[in-house]
Amino acid sequence: MTRTDAPVTPPVVLTVAGSDSGGGAGIQADVKTIEACGGFGTSAITSVTAQNTTGVQGQHLLPIAEIEAQIEAVVDDFDVAGVKTGMLATSEVIDLVADHAAALPNLVVDPVMVAASGDRLLAAEAEDAYESLIAEATVVTPNADEAAVLTGRDVDDPVAAERAGKELVEMGADSALVKGGHVPGDAVVDTLVTEDGVTTFRHDRVETEATHGSGCTLSSAIATQLAHGDDLSTAVGSGIDLLASAVRYNVDVGEGPGAVHHLV
Ligand code: PLP
Repeated sequence: MTRTDAPVTPPVVLTVAGSDSGGGAGIQADVKTIEACGGFGTSAITSVTAQNTTGVQGQHLLPIAEIEAQIEAVVDDFDVAGVKTGMLATSEVIDLVADHAAALPNLVVDPVMVAASGDRLLAAEAEDAYESLIAEATVVTPNADEAAVLTGRDVDDPVAAERAGKELVEMGADSALVKGGHVPGDAVVDTLVTEDGVTTFRHDRVETEATHGSGCTLSSAIATQLAHGDDLSTAVGSGIDLLASAVRYNVDVGEGPGAVHHLV
């Protein structure tokens, strides 16, 4: 059949992350979110997790050459316009992505360390390796716990979040979004720090345990909006709005707390 309509050309977005067999986080959340935001989702899988809503039952790291082959296969063929990283698992994978950074535009680094279930997704000795990748990031998106690990200081209120964001920018990131979801309070305050200043984004807190996949969803949405050509503050603002809906309209699947809804 001959197609007569003009083909659509969505911006291509690459996720470099782990697979979550439970579908709530990781590559699965990323591709669903990228497509929901009008991008074309491609992936380089770092680790295959056996996982569901109750926790992580197993992890299988792919050989570094296979991870590199996936990144190269995508960037060699597609005009990649946005990238996000999620579960990178080891310092070797972090270094690999940093080495390819020149081919990875609009690089959103979500420094995933621990799953919502409490299971580790990053080797403890790999935490220091993040500095090299942060230096390449368009925006790094730690939650308060990750920001504390990366900066070596407690991040337990918006003032500390701003200070941590400034330190991440001093490490070489173009910007840092320090997320406030893990900081107690009626409102969630996310803090965006750039060379030019600080912007805060405030949302009412949704009382739910179904937050699995929230970091993945936000970083994928930001990467896709940047790929569409949005400026940073617009991309971050619309990503946060999308996540607020994704948490509010979460999906009740499985025996555990469920997950955020990626297609809102
Ligand atoms: N990547 C993978 C493969 C995961 O399994 C998880 C959490 O379980 C994450 C990333 C981080 O998920 P979240 O978006 O909840 O921070």
